[in-house]
Amino acid sequence: MDHDPTLPDSLWWAAPQTEFAPLDTELDVDVLIVGGGITGITLAYTLADQGASVGLLDSGPLAGEASGRNAGFLLAAPAEPYSERIALWGREGARAVLQIGRRTHQRIRDLAQGLPIDCEYEQTGSLRLTRTREESEDLRGSLPELRHDGFPMREIELADAVPAHAVGRFDAAFEVPEDGQLHPVKFLHGLAVQAAKKGARIHGRTKVNGAQWQSGLWNVQAGEQTARARTLVLATNAFTPRLVPSLGALIVPRRGQVIATEPLDFTVTTRPTYAHWGYQYWRQTPEGRVLIGGWRDVDFDAEGVDVNGTSDKVQAAIEGGLRELVQKEVRIDHRWGGIMGFARDGRPLVGWLDPSHHLAICAGFTGHGMGMAAACTQDMAELLSWKRAMGISSFDPHRFPELKQLREGIVELGAARA
Ligand SMILES: Cc1cc2nc3c(=O)[nH]c(=O)nc-3n(C[C@H](O)[C@H](O)[C@H](O)COP(=O)(O)OP(=O)(O)OC[C@H]3O[C@@H](n4cnc5c(N)ncnc54)[C@H](O)[C@@H]3O)c2cc1C
Repeated sequence: MDHDPTLPDSLWWAAPQTEFAPLDTELDVDVLIVGGGITGITLAYTLADQGASVGLLDSGPLAGEASGRNAGFLLAAPAEPYSERIALWGREGARAVLQIGRRTHQRIRDLAQGLPIDCEYEQTGSLRLTRTREESEDLRGSLPELRHDGFPMREIELADAVPAHAVGRFDAAFEVPEDGQLHPVKFLHGLAVQAAKKGARIHGRTKVNGAQWQSGLWNVQAGEQTARARTLVLATNAFTPRLVPSLGALIVPRRGQVIATEPLDFTVTTRPTYAHWGYQYWRQTPEGRVLIGGWRDVDFDAEGVDVNGTSDKVQAAIEGGLRELVQKEVRIDHRWGGIMGFARDGRPLVGWLDPSHHLAICAGFTGHGMGMAAACTQDMAELLSWKRAMGISSFDPHRFPELKQLREGIVELGAARA
């Protein structure tokens, strides 16, 4: 299959996509967003819809990084047992993440159906499968807490969750009715077009190399051009430390790898499915392709990189997972990798990085950005107009002591700070 090497190699990029031209003139806006993944695009749309003056720049094609390379799951309830999240973040913190997930799904549904955007959005529900008794007991043990917090997950027969021949590979199955799935690139390009129609200045293939705060404005080196903005928002995911090196201790890159088969004329699954503590996942697209990925745990050390691509070891493990689900030989049409930004405590950094210099961040979704970002950016829009946004208060970047130490604030981004 011929493939334009300047475009991502994921399944979602197989069909022609919308191109957003590079910035070829100076740009003056109130809010400039760096990064055109789900975070940047949903924020740009929200602000433009409110009548704000907003620009967005991405160094590559829009949705060319994680947002155009993921599995397209919209999940609110966690892949791992809820009790683990409570242990990490406390009950309120864990509940806040669930609620952001539910609001994100609602926001995406409203946008996809209301605008409308043809992006194969479906509310399918989702599955969690376990491989061992220990994993099953942990998930079962979390059900009452999940239900109490308003997110019912229920145990179902394995035979209702996987093909009959694969039942012996798993220990138990759990269903979440409210989750869904979509075609991420169709959704994001559709939304970016709508944002542009509302006045957002959106440009791809325009890298932000640096920025300085001068006389109450950010002066931004954007490709060959200069952009100026009163407020700068970093929606740069795993790549954020390249602009703010001090964030390197808080957001680290992790690669995820995926395979997509040829279209199959039989059903392998009807719902997005997670297994083995969330390290393995799969779904089937409307045209019948099985998309299966994860297995990062077979080679943890090698997957802590910020370059896209695949490795033989992880790809072989994913193929093993595919053979468990599909017994006959099938052609693999796509293989790809994408870079996730993992935050140190597993929760994104959403809020002011330096309010006195009008610098904000929305990054570090730790592998769950499709299911979390759209509500975070809705709240972020409130924050940018100096309102309180309780839904994201537990994601305040200043929960990390490292940021409290930056007393003089951040007045310069990019190579000059490295
Ligand atoms: C294989 C894989 C599967 C996944 N599956 C799911 C899933 O099913 N469900 C889910 O919820 N999440 C999933 N995720 C995670 C999800 O894709 C991410 O959390 C989400 O896409 C992050 O979105 P973002 O906009 O913050 O970052 P990104 O999509 O990474 O966007 C950041 C953008 O910033 C741009 N950029 C960076 N630096 C600069 C600069 N200096 N100048 C200009 N632009 C810059 C980049 O080009 C990029 O486009 C998966 C991720 C991977 C890799």
